[in-house]
Parts: sequence; structure tokens; C-alpha cells
Amino acid sequence: MRKRDYYEVLGVSRDASPEEIKKAYRKLARKYHPDANKDDPRAAEKFKEIAEAAAVLGDPERRAQYDRYGHAGPEGRGFDFEDIFRQAGFGGFGGFGDIFEMFFGGGAPHGPRKGQDLRYDLKLDFREAAFGTEKEIRVPRTELCPQCDGSGAAPGTHPATCPMCRGRGQVSVTQQTPFGRFIQTRPCERCRGEGRIIQTPCSECRGAGRVRRMRLLTVKIPAGVSDDFRLRLVGEGEAGYRGAPPGDLYVYIYVTPDEFFEREGNNVLCELPISFVQAALGDEVDVPTLDGKTTIRIPEGTQTGTIFRLRGRGIPYLNGGGRGDQLVQVRVVTPTRLNEKQKELLREFGRQASSKLYAEEKGFFKKIKDAFMG
Ligand SMILES: [Zn+2]
Ligand SMILES: [Zn+2]
Repeated sequence: MRKRDYYEVLGVSRDASPEEIKKAYRKLARKYHPDANKDDPRAAEKFKEIAEAAAVLGDPERRAQYDRYGHAGPEGRGFDFEDIFRQAGFGGFGGFGDIFEMFFGGGAPHGPRKGQDLRYDLKLDFREAAFGTEKEIRVPRTELCPQCDGSGAAPGTHPATCPMCRGRGQVSVTQQTPFGRFIQTRPCERCRGEGRIIQTPCSECRGAGRVRRMRLLTVKIPAGVSDDFRLRLVGEGEAGYRGAPPGDLYVYIYVTPDEFFEREGNNVLCELPISFVQAALGDEVDVPTLDGKTTIRIPEGTQTGTIFRLRGRGIPYLNGGGRGDQLVQVRVVTPTRLNEKQKELLREFGRQASSKLYAEEKGFFKKIKDAFMG
């Protein structure tokens, strides 16, 4: 009998995604599963064909070989399905769950395993991030049940070894299948892979060994953290399973913007509005810094955009060793809503200044003209 094309068997196109292949396989396997078709002898044949197609197309390497060499496989002898199915633990037909996952990986792990990591997003204001702080956070998580210490058994009792798997958590089944005899190992159904059975469950956790708690934790934030900084608190995540260690807690830092300061690396930028009189005549001006007010001297004839550097007034470096600077950029504010007297003074100032200003700036205007005229 001519072997049908595997894409045709699963009813998918040649460029189907792994998800599409998996979906098609699940649907057909459910339909032609031998357990569901006890009266139809052809169903087993059909199911075998589907399983073969899924075993090849569900595996990226075998799929590439099939695309290139067809049913003959890379060595011209065809695919060794007996071996493929044995490795996949095929043959139990025990339930739909295990056959569906066998070519595609997955399946729930049993036995001890580390608890899951948790994430907590923490907002800080500008100064808290700059200088570090201590924060109390409330983290919902699972913890080992304090009453049974995580065993799940009521105090004074002990979990019994599972009689079905004798504590192994797994059972092996030898099965005659359309592909031959196979030994399949799968999680014990009696103890659900735990290897033990709790006869008198702990009243606090109902045998789970873990309880949900809202835990209040104090987090020490180092000075100099910035957005998306991640703080790892080892062992503060979800409780582990069956004696395995707990997961970790990751605290992600978000810094809320400040209305006056902006951060650039470890420098702090800010803008300082001054009047054009202060700019022209010079002045002493108060400037906010992260440490409080300080005074800077604006020299006579300061232009808008001029930057003054306050050394060591920036953000501390995370690993210690000093701080960045504060950069103060001056913005000269043009006055509005002048009264008549002020306007007259300015006009008078303008008459006095115009000839002199022009003389000073002539070189500048000439350069602009040259640039346009080429
Ligand atoms: Zn308990
Ligand atoms: Zn068992």
C-alpha cells in the first residue's frame, strides 16, 4: 500500500506551524483513538498512520528530513517508528493526556521542584531612587504550611508510602499496541506522582503542604537605582514542592518623574529661569539640589542656554564611589505684562543699546549672510 503524505494525513499545509500540526493531531487522535473505536478494526490502522505523521511532523528535525527525503528518511530505510515511539513512552493508551503530549513535550513534572519566582513592581520617587530607602511591601505568595511544615499530613501523623508505586511516584505498564510491545512509564495515578498518600490531611492546608499568605517584607533599596533596576530577594518567592527550596522575589524599580529634576546617567539636569535683567547684570540665585537649596552666581552677560555645573550634586553611583553632577541650564525669561513706566525705560534702553549691539553683533550677521549666499 502506498504510504500517504504526512501533511495529507493530518490535513495541514506544508508550511503549517507547529501549533497547527499539534492541533490537527489532537483532533484526529481523539477521533480515531482505538479506545473510542472498539468496533472499528480500521481505526487502529488509521490511528497508527496519524501517530506516525505526528511523530515526524511534530519534531523539527524529523520534519526537515521528511521534507527533503520523503518517507524514505535520510538513510533511505524509512523512519524507525518502533524506536521513536519507545522513546516517546508511547503505548499506554491510558488516557488522552499522555498521548497528546508525547511528541510535543510538556506534561506536568512531579516530585520535588523549586518554587516559582515572583515579581513585584515598586514605585519610587526621584530622591528615594537617588539616595536609597527602605520600603515595606505586601507580597501575596504561597508558603510552607506552618502547621504541618509542608508535609500535608495532620500533626502527629505521617504520609504513607503509596502502595501502588511503592513510593516511586511512577508506574511502568507493558502494553501490546499496534506498534508492538512497549513498556511505558507514567506518573502513578493513585498518588498523582507524589509517591506518598496523606491519610489524615492537615486541617490548615487540607493536605497541600502550602498555604497562601500576604507577607509583609522590608526591602532595602540601594542608592543610585534607576528605572527597570531589578532587586533579587533570594528565597522570598513561592514555596517549593516536596522539600525543594522556594523561588526568588524580583523587585522591579520604577522611578516616578520629578517636576524639577531630570536624570541623565548619574547627572541630574534642571532648568533655571532667570529674568533678562539678572542675565544682563548678573545675580546670585537660589537653585534646588537633591540635598537642598544652594546659591549659584550668574555672571554679568549670561546667555540663555548657559549650563552651570554643580560638582558632586548628582546621583550616587550604585557601586559606591561618589556622585554625578548637577547641570543647571539657564533660561532667560522675556518679561510680559509690563506697565507703561517699564516699557518707557526699555524703549530708552533700546535707543541707547541698539547702535552698540549692532556693532558687536555685526560679525555674527555677516556670518549668517555668508552662509546663505555661499
Ligand atoms: Zn498543613
Ligand atoms: Zn503512587
